[in-house]
Amino acid sequence: MNSIIEHLRKIVGEENIKTDVEELERYSKDETSGVRPPLPMAVVFANSANEVSEIMKFAYNHKIPVTPRGAGTGLSGGAVAEKNGLILSLEKMNHIIEFDAENMTVTVEPGVITDEIQKLAEEHGLFYAGDPASSESSSIGGNVAENAGGVKVLKYGPTSYHVLGIEVVLPTGEIVHFGGKMMKNVMGYDMIRLFIGSEGTLGIVTKIILRLIPKPKYSAVLLAPFESIDDAVRCVPKVLSQSGILPTSIELMDKYSVQMASRFLNEAIPYQEAGCHLIFEIDSSDRQSLIKLYISLGEKLQQMGAMEVYIADNRHQKMKIWKFRKAIAEGIIAFRPEHCMEDVSVPINAIPRLIQSTYQIARKNNIEVLNFGHVGDGNVHVTFLKPESMNNENWKLSTEKSLEELYQITAQLEGSMTGEHGVGLKRKKYLPIFFRQEEIDLMKKIKKAIDPGNILNPSKLFMS
Ligand SMILES: Cc1cc2nc3c(=O)[nH]c(=O)nc-3n(C[C@H](O)[C@H](O)[C@H](O)COP(=O)(O)OP(=O)(O)OC[C@H]3O[C@@H](n4cnc5c(N)ncnc54)[C@H](O)[C@@H]3O)c2cc1C
Repeated sequence: MNSIIEHLRKIVGEENIKTDVEELERYSKDETSGVRPPLPMAVVFANSANEVSEIMKFAYNHKIPVTPRGAGTGLSGGAVAEKNGLILSLEKMNHIIEFDAENMTVTVEPGVITDEIQKLAEEHGLFYAGDPASSESSSIGGNVAENAGGVKVLKYGPTSYHVLGIEVVLPTGEIVHFGGKMMKNVMGYDMIRLFIGSEGTLGIVTKIILRLIPKPKYSAVLLAPFESIDDAVRCVPKVLSQSGILPTSIELMDKYSVQMASRFLNEAIPYQEAGCHLIFEIDSSDRQSLIKLYISLGEKLQQMGAMEVYIADNRHQKMKIWKFRKAIAEGIIAFRPEHCMEDVSVPINAIPRLIQSTYQIARKNNIEVLNFGHVGDGNVHVTFLKPESMNNENWKLSTEKSLEELYQITAQLEGSMTGEHGVGLKRKKYLPIFFRQEEIDLMKKIKKAIDPGNILNPSKLFMS
C-alpha cells in the first residue's frame, strides 16, 4: 500500500493526498441515509485532466478501484468508497474556464458549484436552467454524472438538456472529447448522453461546456394550499393540459413535509395545517404577460379546488417560498436521520395512484411516510421514516418490504425507480423490477467495453 501512495504522491503532490482516518471517514460517504461504506485506501485530489489520466492509468494497471467524487451530496450512495479503493475528489478542479457571451456558453471544470454557474450567467443577463435543490452545495460534475434534475425540469429539462460538450477521462486513462459549443450535432453515437447520468461508472468528467439561455426577466411564484393531497395531485395534469401555461415548476409539499420545513426554518407558511401545498413558478420576458398568466393560473387553481392562492412576485417573497421548499430535505436529514428518501417517477396522471399507495405501504409496514417533490414532472420523493418506537432490525425489514412494494407499484404504473437521484449502491438490487435481463446485460456490455478492468465505481449500479 505504501508504494501505491508513494506513486500517487508523485502524480498529485504531497498536499493532494489524504490518508488520515478522519479525512477517510469524511470522504467515504455521501448524503444517503443507511449506507455504511468501507474506508477508502486514500483520498486523492486532482488538479487537472492530465493528473486524472495519470491516476487512472496507474489504477488500471494495478487493479485499484476508483470512485469519482464531486461535493458528496448524492442521495444514492454513488460517491461512497469502494473497499481498498481510492476516492478521486474533483473538488479542486473548480475553475470557470471560459464564459462566451456570444455563443451563450460557459466552459467549466467539474468541481464548480452549480450555484456559481447560475450566478455568473445571471450577471450577464443569461440563465443556467439546471437547478437541483442542492445547487448551493452540489458540483456540476456531480450534476452531470447523475443527470440531476430539480425544480425547473418541467420547463427547462434536466442537466442533460444544458450540456453541449464534455471532456472525459476513461477508466483506462485516455482523455476523450465529445460535442462542443455548437447547438446541433448528430455525428456518431450520442456519447454525451451516454456519459451523462452514468453515475461515475464509465468515465470521469473533467470539462463541461454548458448552454445558457436568455434570462426570462420576470417570474412569479404561486402557493396553493389544498384540503387534501388527493385534491392537489389530481389538479396537476389538468393544469398542464388545460391551462395553456407551461410553468417552470410545480412542486408538492404534503402536510408532513410542510411540518418538517417549518421546524427546520422555525417559520410557518399560510394555511400551514392544510392537507397539502402546491408551489407553481411561471416566468416571462414581459411583465404584463406574466401578470395575465398568474391571474389566469390562480383562477384555474381555485376552480380546481385550491383553498386560496398566494402570489409572490417580488424577490423576497419568492425566495421565502423556495427556501421553505428546499428546507424539506435538509429537515429530514437533520431531524429524522433514519429515513429512506426515494425518487420514483411516473406519468403525471398516475401520481394520485402512486401517492395513495405510499400511505397504504407505510400503514401496512408500520412506518411513517411523507411525500414531496417535483410533481409537475411526475417525480415524487416518497420518504419513509422510522417511527421512534421501532427498533433498528424491524426498521430494516420494514423499509426493505416497503421499497419492494413501492417499486412494484411504480413499475405497474409504467414509471421509473429514480427520476434524478440515481441507482448507485442504494437501489441496484431493484433494477430487475424495471429491466429485463437482456436490457441489463446490454448495459453491462457497455460498462465492460469502456471499463474492461471494472475499476471505476465497480460496486455501483449493477449487482455483480
Ligand atoms: C438537500 C439535498 C437536496 C437535493 N436536491 C436535489 C434535486 O433537487 N435534484 C437532484 O437531481 N438531486 C438533488 N440532490 C442530490 C444531489 O445533490 C445530486 O445528485 C447532485 O448532482 C450530486 O452532486 P455532487 O457534486 O454532490 O456529487 P457526488 O455526490 O459527489 O457524486 C454523485 C455521483 O457522481 C459521480 N461523480 C461526481 N463527480 C463526477 C465527475 N466529475 N465525473 C464522473 N462522475 C462523477 C460520483 O461517483 C457519484 O456516483 C439533493 C441532495 C441533497 C443533500
